[in-house]
Amino acid sequence: MNNNYKKNEFRPIIGIDFGTTNSAVAYIRNKKPQILESANGGRVIPSVLLIDLGDNVVVGKDALDSLVAMPDRTVAAVKRRMGSNNPIYVSGRDLLPQEVAALILKELKKSVDALFGEGEKEAVITVPAYFTDAQRRATKQAGELAGFVVERIINEPTAAALAYGLNNLKKDGHILVYDLGGGTFDVSIVELMSGILEVKASTGNNFLGGEDFDWKLVDWLANKIINMHNVDPRGDIRAKALLKKEAENIKIKLSSEETVKIIIPVVTVKDNQPIGLSTRIKRREFVNLIDDLLQETIELTKNVLKDAELSVGDIDEVLLVGGSTKIPRVYELISDLFDKNPRDGINPDEAVALGAAVQAGLKSGALPTSELIATDVAPFSMGVAVLKEWKLSRLKPGGFAVIIPKNTTIPVTRSEEFTTTYDGQTEVSIEIYQGEHEWVSNNHKLGEFLLGGIPANHVGKEIIEVKFRYNLNGILEVQAECVSTGKEMTITVQDALDRGSQKSFEESMEKIKSIYKEREEEIEDREDIIYSDEDIDDEGIDSEQSWESLIEEADTYIKQLNELKGIMEEKQQKQADKLIRRLRKAIENENDVQAKIEDIIDFIIDLTL
Ligand code: AMP
Repeated sequence: MNNNYKKNEFRPIIGIDFGTTNSAVAYIRNKKPQILESANGGRVIPSVLLIDLGDNVVVGKDALDSLVAMPDRTVAAVKRRMGSNNPIYVSGRDLLPQEVAALILKELKKSVDALFGEGEKEAVITVPAYFTDAQRRATKQAGELAGFVVERIINEPTAAALAYGLNNLKKDGHILVYDLGGGTFDVSIVELMSGILEVKASTGNNFLGGEDFDWKLVDWLANKIINMHNVDPRGDIRAKALLKKEAENIKIKLSSEETVKIIIPVVTVKDNQPIGLSTRIKRREFVNLIDDLLQETIELTKNVLKDAELSVGDIDEVLLVGGSTKIPRVYELISDLFDKNPRDGINPDEAVALGAAVQAGLKSGALPTSELIATDVAPFSMGVAVLKEWKLSRLKPGGFAVIIPKNTTIPVTRSEEFTTTYDGQTEVSIEIYQGEHEWVSNNHKLGEFLLGGIPANHVGKEIIEVKFRYNLNGILEVQAECVSTGKEMTITVQDALDRGSQKSFEESMEKIKSIYKEREEEIEDREDIIYSDEDIDDEGIDSEQSWESLIEEADTYIKQLNELKGIMEEKQQKQADKLIRRLRKAIENENDVQAKIEDIIDFIIDLTL
């Protein structure tokens, strides 16, 4: 690393874009947001986790490459599952979505630590504008489990707007953010008013993105092979993986070239003969393939305008975000719809992370805040428990009286007046909740306190004023005052977003630590054993699976490898024979079978990719 970060120059806070497909980290350097490259030089890394056979945690490209070969050890697109309590089975463990996300974020933290030194780091993490309270909380927890102090969770479109520079955001107006990534499409309208940014409306499709374009191309390539050789390569899992990879490469090339030549020497095997493909595709043909999907994004863009009660003419700036907006047809469609060119100058893959870094910089003081207070809205409603009319006008405790409604621009202070509920009442319990349900039992409790010293009086005669102050860091201050006496009490809910139970947080932390600890212990154990290359003791791994199913799996791979010999060069055939011999020997010794199967899988993948 050759960054000239000077110690104590400013408090390093970083911005994180934790994406469905890719993630990125950015920080402020010389008053400008800048992407922090990972150790291997990548600016964005795939948000994919692999816990490999040796219990190593692998994140990024290598994990992505293992998705097909080791589906039960790999997790992709965990962002879609944030906020759910359903565990994800990975490598023999049940991990919660935020735990998987934490392992991915831990990898990002490595590059941060390489720049700023080890230890806790403050971070701003972005989430889609439509993320619920539970999803935001899970994201925040993932960040904390990864070793970050999560200062703010901000909306992705707000971050994108910030990335386009504070100088560009001086005029009040409306910004449309069209975000087409690998797996999701979001379109939002952000309003800039008196220096405050607020998401006015947001919509999208959680299952529409670059991956779908890749699959359209896979079908196109497969149909070519079916027409020529009468065999559908999609029936062969390795061929399908190969075509998917090729399709993405072709798609990316078509963003800069009008025609792309396709030469794939071996896609699959038929009657022991390799089947390849040699053809070409024009950009126009590709656009036709994905046209209906692009039209859907345009319809959703029109819908978001309707939701915000705006017309295309009311939009002052259009921002393109997400890797898939590099497709020239997207640019054309958006330019046509708005009759103006979208802004360019920022890599759409990086805009959200850069914007998160701007927010982080505003917070740390690395950027001046005088001109603009970037903000977001309260992601959920906050209020207190009250008596509420129930059936036939009967009053029932546990109703939810909202004081700060969801989507209120923050920071905000709001107050409401309540009265005593029975004759002679001298104290009142203030129970603070957040959530959207009219009954508090369905919402989440943030805190509770008792305001005493109320003069005994008739029901409804004493007025209690409850004031909520909610700041940009998610800190909620609640004050209750008996109006007739001026007696008041205040409590602070340190972080209203941070309301996951401490116990479950600690459990998750232990689980994550144990993943790394198991690995360390395993290495120590192995250091005690002197073994030959041929004879690695992997008993623990083998015992995960029943012996019969392991032998069945071994047979399948031996068969596959033998079938593939038809397409191998002589040297590869020899290597294949050696791998088969090693696997047979492992079966004979009832030892190390899984590792030998994995060697064959690796060989097959290398052969076909
Ligand atoms: P994101 O989720 O924003 O990181 O976007 C990732 C998606 O963008 C993947 O589906 C990529 O294949 C796609 N992508 C990246 N670069 C290009 C490009 N130049 N042209 C078309 N799609 C691209």
